[in-house]
Amino acid sequence: MTPLTIYVIDNSSISKKNQQHNVRVEGLRVNALKMFDLEGRRALITGSGQGIGFELARGLASAGADVILNDIDTERLANAADKLRSEGATVHPLGFDVTDPEKVTAAVDGFEAETSPIDILVNNAGMQFRAPLEEFPIDRFDFMMRLNLNSAFYGGQAVARHMIPRQQGKIVNICSVQTALARPSIAPYTASKGAVANLTKGMATDWAKYGLQINGLAPGYFKTELTSALVADEEFTAWLSARTPAGRWGEVSELVGACVFLSSAASSFVNGHVLYVDGGITCSV
Ligand code: NAP
Repeated sequence: MTPLTIYVIDNSSISKKNQQHNVRVEGLRVNALKMFDLEGRRALITGSGQGIGFELARGLASAGADVILNDIDTERLANAADKLRSEGATVHPLGFDVTDPEKVTAAVDGFEAETSPIDILVNNAGMQFRAPLEEFPIDRFDFMMRLNLNSAFYGGQAVARHMIPRQQGKIVNICSVQTALARPSIAPYTASKGAVANLTKGMATDWAKYGLQINGLAPGYFKTELTSALVADEEFTAWLSARTPAGRWGEVSELVGACVFLSSAASSFVNGHVLYVDGGITCSV
C-alpha cells in the first residue's frame, strides 16, 4: 500500500513526514471526506450475523471496506453474507466462536495467511442476561464475561500480532451505556462492559506506539434481537423515552458514522477513547 504524505502546519513552516493511513493535509486544505474513506481496507466484525454487528459491517462496506463477517450461527452468517453481497459489498464469511481463544487465533492467522491482512477489528459479539444479582447464576456470569470481555482480548491480541509489524491497525471495542451506568438486574453485564472500556484503555496504552488506534464505541439503547424483550415492553419504552434526552430508541444505522470514524484515518490520533452514541442518556440524570 502506498504511504500517504502528511504535511503538518505549525504556523511558521510546513514540516513533512511519511505516515501510513494518515491524513493528507496540503497547505490549509484538508480533504475531510477522504479521511473517512475505507477503500482497500478489510474489516472483521464479530457477531455480525444480525443486529448492531450486521449494520456496522454494512456501514463499513458502504465506506469502501471489504468486510469479514463472523457469527457463531453459520446459517445466519451465510444469510448475512448473501444480503450484503446483494447490496454490492465484498464479503468474507468467517465462522468461529469468539469465546474460544484457539479458534479465534486460528481464524485470524488463517485469514491473514490465505486471504489478506485484517486492517480493522470490531469486537462486537456480546450478550445480555437478566436476573437479580443475589440469584444470578454463576455459570451465566462466567459465560457473559467470556463472551463480552474475554473475546475482545482474544480477538484484539490475535489481530494486534499482525498489525504491530505493519505499524497500523484499528480496533473498535463495542461498549455500552452500561460501561458508565448500572441498572437493576444486569450488574454482570455492567461489569463486563466497564471492563471492556478499561481493556480499551490498556490496549491503547500498550499498542498506540505501534501505530494502532484502539477505541470504544458505546451504544445507548438500540432496537435489536438483544433488546427485543425491552422493545416489546411498553413501560420500559416509556421510561426510556423519558430518560433519554433525545426521547427515543436509537436506530442501528445511527452507529455507523461513529464506527467509520473510529475505523478510518479521521481518528489517527484518537486512542483509548469511548465514544457514546446514546441520545444523551449518559450526560443527564
Ligand atoms: P445481537 O442481536 O444478539 O447480535 C449478536 C450476535 O453475536 C448474534 O448473531 C449472536 O449469535 C452472535 N454471537 C453470540 N455469541 C457468539 C460467539 N461466541 N461467537 C460469535 N458470535 C456470537 O446483539 P446486538 O444487540 O446486535 O449487540 C451487539 C453488541 O452491542 C453487544 O456487544 C452488545 O452488548 C452491544 N450493545 C447493544 C445494545 C443494544 O441496544 N442492542 C446497546 C449497547 C451495547 P446468537 O444469537 O446465536 O447468540
